Amino acid sequence: MLQQLQLRVGIVGAGLGGLAAAIGIARVGHKVTVLEQASALGEVGAGIQIPPNSSRILKRWDLLDKVEAVSVRPGDFILRSYRDGKILSRQNVFPYTEEQYGAPYLHVHRADFHRILTEEAIRLGVEIQLDSTVVGVDFQKPSVFVKGKPEFVADVVIGADGLKSVCRELLLGRQDPPHLTGDLAYRIIVKADDMRNHAELKALVEKPCINYWMGPDSHAVCYLLQGGSLYNIVLIRPDNLPETVNKARADLQEMRDFFKGWDPRLRALLDLVQETSKWRLQNSEEMLTWSHPNGRFVLLGDACHATLPYLAQGAAQAVEDGAVLGALFEKVQEKSQLPDLLVIYEAIRKARTTQVVKGSTSLRDIFHMHDGPQQQERDRQLSEQEPFEGFPNRWADPVFQPFLFGYDAYVEAYRAWRAYLNGRFPGTAGRFRTHL
Ligand SMILES: Cc1cc2nc3c(=O)[nH]c(=O)nc-3n(C[C@H](O)[C@H](O)[C@H](O)COP(=O)(O)OP(=O)(O)OC[C@H]3O[C@@H](n4cnc5c(N)ncnc54)[C@H](O)[C@@H]3O)c2cc1C
Repeated sequence: MLQQLQLRVGIVGAGLGGLAAAIGIARVGHKVTVLEQASALGEVGAGIQIPPNSSRILKRWDLLDKVEAVSVRPGDFILRSYRDGKILSRQNVFPYTEEQYGAPYLHVHRADFHRILTEEAIRLGVEIQLDSTVVGVDFQKPSVFVKGKPEFVADVVIGADGLKSVCRELLLGRQDPPHLTGDLAYRIIVKADDMRNHAELKALVEKPCINYWMGPDSHAVCYLLQGGSLYNIVLIRPDNLPETVNKARADLQEMRDFFKGWDPRLRALLDLVQETSKWRLQNSEEMLTWSHPNGRFVLLGDACHATLPYLAQGAAQAVEDGAVLGALFEKVQEKSQLPDLLVIYEAIRKARTTQVVKGSTSLRDIFHMHDGPQQQERDRQLSEQEPFEGFPNRWADPVFQPFLFGYDAYVEAYRAWRAYLNGRFPGTAGRFRTHL
């Protein structure tokens, strides 16, 4: 009988990605410490969409019931024209994703999702150290240097510190600030009851759906949250924040003026908004590699594949990263296999996340078309044609949809590990043990 290996794993950042990795790895018996710069745990922002590729992982971790209890299952996914709200494309979500992919599509408040992951991590024995700002990494040991605290030494370090990642800059050996994308987001919550009492708006909340309005240089995404009591609104428009400001309280009149030529229902909805903030949307360049050649350090989530929100997949990809790491840490038998484990993780994750990042960025061009022949052709395809490969409703595309929703992080990781044990995983150094 082989001795169960227990590795010490340090994770920088307690966002959705860092917590997912902590859960995945702690579930299989390793000792996980998360170092988080904030003095209190939580998530900023409002709603988040959990697609089936992410909810499938929650199901495996026995967390789906808890998340579902505070979620809403949208019925349809609806793309509308900005001028009059005309429905151009409709894709069923519930019960479709459960029947087709065996996992639900959910809408949840970020704070609820984060709390459930935090509680599970703690239940599994993960130590979360708050007020711990990582300022340096020794890639050889490996260890991390935490501001004002002793050096933290581990067997492997995972940088999950988000878009403005210090870990990424340390790995690259240079500064790598996020770049502007030209867009910003208003993130808004209104009371759904205010809509139920409104003649023009009640139809939007009678049946939970994801509604998108597509217009020139901008779009709106709306859905119900928290048992249908809240309505989440994200408005994307061209960035007009001052150069040095990434988030600011927004002027409601300016927001309403920007959307004044839009569907009267959307305008009525914006009249209900009491307050909101503007968040600059930033991004980073694709990295050549996410890991250090020493084989004891790797990145995950927004730190290495920040994804614009258009496809609603950024956090889902970070959760997939955590699940793949968890599956590989379940299989590892000796410390010397760690460099190969990280090679396998990066190999199976990078190709997918690159495709998702590109898919999300390209959706911006599809959503934000100006009125004209291109937009007319997009609308014609959406409203008149059966979905085909490259269909403008990316969630209905018969090739892209199964790629996105059908991915099983555990199946991919186990398959890769088997190939590795058989000496067939490219880039690994033969540290596998053929008798296992
Ligand atoms: C408007 C908008 C809507 C979105 N909607 C969706 C959606 O519907 N579905 C979806 O899947 N995704 C969505 N996303 C994307 C999603 O929010 C992100 O991809 C996801 O939250 C990234 O998680 P993360 O854990 O990688 O990074 P983060 O959430 O950024 O977490 C990083 C953590 O690291 C900590 N940290 C940073 N630096 C240090 C340091 N030096 N030392 C210690 N700790 C540190 C931070 O405090 C933070 O807790 C959306 C994004 C936006 C902007």
